[in-house]
Amino acid sequence: MMKGALADITKAVGHTPIVKLSDRVTEGVASDIYVKCEYLNPGGSHKDRMASNMIDEAEKTGLKPGGYIVEATSGNTGASLAMISAVRGYKCVFVMPDKMSQEKIAALRAFGARVVVCPTAVEADDPRSYYQTAKRIANELAPNCFYANQYHNMANPAGQYKSLGPEIWEQCGTELDVLVSGMGTGGTITGAGGFLKEVNPAIKLVGVDPIGSLYYDFVKSGRITKPFSYKVEGIGEDFFPSTMNLKLLDEIVRVDDKECFLKTRDLVRLEGLNVGGSSGAAVAGAIKYARNSGKKESILVVVCDSAQKYLSKIFNDDWMRENGFLGEEQGLGIVRDILGKTPQKLVTAAPNAKVREVIEMLKSMGISQVPVVEGAKLVGVVAEVDLLRHLVSGNGTLDSPVGPLAEGDYATVSPDTKIELLQSVLNDAKLALVLDKGELVGVVTKIDLIEFLAKRAA
Ligand code: PMP
Repeated sequence: MMKGALADITKAVGHTPIVKLSDRVTEGVASDIYVKCEYLNPGGSHKDRMASNMIDEAEKTGLKPGGYIVEATSGNTGASLAMISAVRGYKCVFVMPDKMSQEKIAALRAFGARVVVCPTAVEADDPRSYYQTAKRIANELAPNCFYANQYHNMANPAGQYKSLGPEIWEQCGTELDVLVSGMGTGGTITGAGGFLKEVNPAIKLVGVDPIGSLYYDFVKSGRITKPFSYKVEGIGEDFFPSTMNLKLLDEIVRVDDKECFLKTRDLVRLEGLNVGGSSGAAVAGAIKYARNSGKKESILVVVCDSAQKYLSKIFNDDWMRENGFLGEEQGLGIVRDILGKTPQKLVTAAPNAKVREVIEMLKSMGISQVPVVEGAKLVGVVAEVDLLRHLVSGNGTLDSPVGPLAEGDYATVSPDTKIELLQSVLNDAKLALVLDKGELVGVVTKIDLIEFLAKRAA
């Protein structure tokens, strides 16, 4: 064999460069922001690292060449598994949600994989969901079949722990202050971030979450709120994968589709970084973190996959315009417009307020639910129906505290959230709580939105 050659393409995984971002895209923040170019891995993303580890572990427990690998994947894990399978002699079946781009599906088929497409807009435990479909196919193909199950397979974070974490440490050492990553399965932030925290506990981990995902509200308030759909692919979840350890996070920031996609386009156009949507999300999140941190830090952002996979979406002006992501088109306004210029006098209850007092409050104010707030921290929302259930159950009295009755059946938005997005939020959630830098500043229900739109039209 020639001395400069690798035995096969899987040996080329890793050793991706770190590149400093210029002030063309960093919006003048004091910190230095760098990107770890995981999109340059041979399978096209950071998932090459965990896919190698998952297959290594499966081979130890009996997977043999000629066998099947089945996975529920948004594309990147599939590409990595398919690349390794081509070299090691496995057949792949991938199950994907239908919001994924055609390029991703075609790329998997090019590796010889079978791809099954399932509806996105169903609950994770619905038999039609891509998670459940993958499980069923794996059962049908057993026994020489490995269901990779990246959301619950600890070989996923372990792969990033063994590969990405040490590589970042070798490249950055103690100069690194903050690691920023988008979060899907959590393999990256839990694995690589966990490794970095072990070698240097001073390193901070910042997770980036799209509006609509469960992670942000859960970290901020411990509540499982109502998830809703968004366009950025690969990050955010509507359930909690066991591969994600949210306790490791020092901070979590939230981004919306428009800022993700505009930042992605800037990274390609202004920096020559050929990255995809979750990379724009992670960089936009890193900039938000940097703006709030008040320190000059060295921040490393993991940029996961490439622009190539999103040519028909993020890099297609028609698609961007149709979805309201391009230009300053006249929209319906933002949530701040509904709240009005003067700060709302918010009606809230403390967790130790008695059921009797809250009933009185709802009655006298003519409202049907009230946020429960402890100090500045949002605990949940208690609604008429919760009080009713409590009283009917026979276990509760009028003197019980309302704290334990508070529910998570709300979504959270910011004052800058667009009305169009608020409307889709309120399709799924009963009410939207408006948080500004973590503090509750307003409550918006469907009727508030209707009133606002009616006034606007008058
Ligand atoms: N970006 C993209 C494009 C992805 O496909 C994924 C994985 N779903 C992630 C980010 C998040 O990585 P992880 O699953 O390790 O949290």
